[in-house]
Amino acid sequence: MAASKKGRVIPNTRGITMFMHCRRCLAEKSADQSPREFARLEVGFTEIGLQVWCVRHGCNVLHIDFEGQRHPANMKAPGAQ
Ligand SMILES: [Zn+2]
Repeated sequence: MAASKKGRVIPNTRGITMFMHCRRCLAEKSADQSPREFARLEVGFTEIGLQVWCVRHGCNVLHIDFEGQRHPANMKAPGAQ
């Protein structure tokens, strides 16, 4: 099980408490679609950190600068050894 240097367990189960959305997608989606159904987001590492990108609009949603720091992460799917 992955853990931070401080011993905090990094779970690989869904723990999202706030979702990222493209503002333009939220404005364009139909009333019967959820933001999740309409979203076309890519998430990936960049040279400075981590970015969420809207594929539909070709625009930035979020770009986090890690400021040169390395952060502990859990990269395993649930059930993986
Ligand atoms: Zn969008």
